[in-house]
Amino acid sequence: MRGKIIVIGSQKGGVGKTTTTLNLAYSLREMGKKVLTVDFDSQANLTTCYGIEDTGALEYTIGHLMMAQIEEELPENFEDYIQSREGVDYIPSSIYLSVVDAKLRTEMGAERMLAEVLEPLRSRYDYILIDTCPALGMLTINALAAADEVIITVNPQLLAMMGLQDFLRTVGKIKKRINPRLEIAGILLTMCESRTTLCKVLTEEVTESFQGKIKVFQTRIPATVKVGESIYYNMPIAQYSKKASAGIAYRKFAKEIIAYEG
Ligand code: ADP
Ligand code: MG
Repeated sequence: MRGKIIVIGSQKGGVGKTTTTLNLAYSLREMGKKVLTVDFDSQANLTTCYGIEDTGALEYTIGHLMMAQIEEELPENFEDYIQSREGVDYIPSSIYLSVVDAKLRTEMGAERMLAEVLEPLRSRYDYILIDTCPALGMLTINALAAADEVIITVNPQLLAMMGLQDFLRTVGKIKKRINPRLEIAGILLTMCESRTTLCKVLTEEVTESFQGKIKVFQTRIPATVKVGESIYYNMPIAQYSKKASAGIAYRKFAKEIIAYEG
């Protein structure tokens, strides 16, 4: 097995990256895939979604693994770092990752630290999903340098196109200079209020501007209050409510991802 590493990315916050990581992982797991998620945001929202409240107290996080890699003291055994919830493995994060972020700025070969950390884990999973922070700094560069694919989440409500070009330019540079494997799997539209005209207009705008260049996934994730509720109860949406539209959509999206062989 050589797992595929997929980054869920965007230059923006609040566009559904963490929600997508959580729920895509769960749906892939439901379909029998072995999945690891990596919380690569110092805000540790994904870790909180898994039910860990005091992330600051964690001693085994992705930040600690990154620091160990920088110091060339990576442990041989990762067991302490990998936790599990509803059949999905995950490596938690904490504010400590921001210390790593600062440290990376003065390190040689700093772009490939996460890639080195994850390489030995590839053989154990079908998919490794990396949730990222909304900035084009060293952490995001590390995530993209480690990845085979990137899924870009776009919330059509939030001036979808703004900043997207910067993100795409960064992806292009990383592909050229650091990670030639990197491909854009596609754009996932999240929090779609399909009944509103604005949403329709913006969705068309995104689809048209990338036609023939970047795939816009057929599945769109509808906006529903059930997402917030499920996060409050530390559950994937599909588990929280069997009938919730967003849960059904994430299942459909997981099928699209499995079918996609980029
Ligand atoms: P990001 O990780 O990109 O910052 P999040 O996944 O944390 O974005 O989502 C931002 C906010 O929007 C969260 O409060 C989340 O609960 C909410 N949200 C995400 N997806 C949906 C959805 N499909 N419907 C309604 N609310 C959503
Ligand atoms: Mg997030």
